[in-house]
Amino acid sequence: KTNFRNFVMGVDAKIPLINGRFVTAINFDNAATTPPFLSTLQQINNFSPWYSSIHRGTGYKSQFSSNLYEKCRNTVGNFVGADMHTHTVIFVKNTTEAINKLSYRLCKTNKKCVVLSTCMEHHSNDLPWRDKYDVDYIAVDHLGKLSLEDLEYKLKKYKDHIALVTITGISNVTGYKNPIYKIARLVHKYHAKILVDGAQLIPHAPFHMNPIDSPEHIDYLAFSAHKMYAPFGIGVLIGPESTFEEDAPEYSGGGTVDMVTHDFIRWAQPPHKEESGTPNIIGVIALSSAIHTLKMIGMENIEKYENSLTTYALQKLKKISGIQLYGNPDDCTDRVSIIPFNIADIPHEMVATILSYEAGIAVRNGCFCAQPYIQELLNINSHEIEERIKDSTAHHPGMVRISFGLYNHYDEIDMFMTMLEKIITNKAYYLKKYSDIHINI
Ligand code: PMP
Repeated sequence: KTNFRNFVMGVDAKIPLINGRFVTAINFDNAATTPPFLSTLQQINNFSPWYSSIHRGTGYKSQFSSNLYEKCRNTVGNFVGADMHTHTVIFVKNTTEAINKLSYRLCKTNKKCVVLSTCMEHHSNDLPWRDKYDVDYIAVDHLGKLSLEDLEYKLKKYKDHIALVTITGISNVTGYKNPIYKIARLVHKYHAKILVDGAQLIPHAPFHMNPIDSPEHIDYLAFSAHKMYAPFGIGVLIGPESTFEEDAPEYSGGGTVDMVTHDFIRWAQPPHKEESGTPNIIGVIALSSAIHTLKMIGMENIEKYENSLTTYALQKLKKISGIQLYGNPDDCTDRVSIIPFNIADIPHEMVATILSYEAGIAVRNGCFCAQPYIQELLNINSHEIEERIKDSTAHHPGMVRISFGLYNHYDEIDMFMTMLEKIITNKAYYLKKYSDIHINI
């Protein structure tokens, strides 16, 4: 057992099952959101005497919180190894907003026409590019792993027309960890730039943007605080300051300007230009606090522990007949914390419901905002997809996903496995019981 269980909020919450019995909730949905650290909530509390708006106030509290906010910016930048002389750390709402913001900015300043995305992206690192660029997708192999051969082929094919290569650090479906430094080296060899979607990577493994004179540096990075033990509503976009210097920001208004007359505007320097209106000061303080705790535990330790949980769970899952696993269940080396699966003959949404109402185990099911990747992994051809688009009542294909956090335990995995075996052994019973059940909490 690790000692991290008491680090997070709500792990001992008791929840009701369908039979009325109360059990301790098991949360295997950490890829969606992690519970916040207790120390982070305490830090928010500690800030309460200084609660005030930042940057334009001369009051003591405002000066104090402005300094704290900027100090947190450094903490965040340093945590991911950003070069704070060349790069700017912009606070946003979440990864989705960060990527949208970058897509808006790049299409204003970078006239190249192609963005290379991949077949394993979350919709948030796919859709924002589609209306602004010609997007081509780097292929994945039959196990869902990114093809570096296809990446190089496409880098050669589009050459000087590539505005950006945008790739997830870790897939939120298979947990595959992409070799981002190797990819960055390749991308820079072809004089292109790289964005890493760090939503899953930053909370689960060590990461460094690397100095900009290194061929393995990461040009842009986006991530969300709510997946790294801080609360909702704060995210980060990091990139070269020069990217954000020219022209108007996406959202203009208070905080984005140095000087305004009725017919003249001088925009503020990034990051302020990109943080319009009053920012989420509490969110920034919370994120910085969560980073202190993550650093104290050690990202290497977190990756190692979560990898051992993943290996343990995969070994058990492989032994249960009737479980369909996705990705390579025999290779856990580049895989972090996430396992997708299906049970033969039981729809994914029913499996998730049974786990919740019979055992208090929270998992996620469906397509995890990565429909094209799920279509690849499930081998659904374009004809079937077209048919499903026409028929709005068709059952949506998908999977069940378990994803671990640093506070999960082997014995929780054991309880989960026991429940899975029970479901498979008593398939007919559960199918009947849950076929017409609609449960509202
Ligand atoms: N990218 C990946 C890989 C993700 O897992 C997620 C969240 N599921 C996102 C982007 C979007 O993050 P957010 O909802 O915090 O914007």
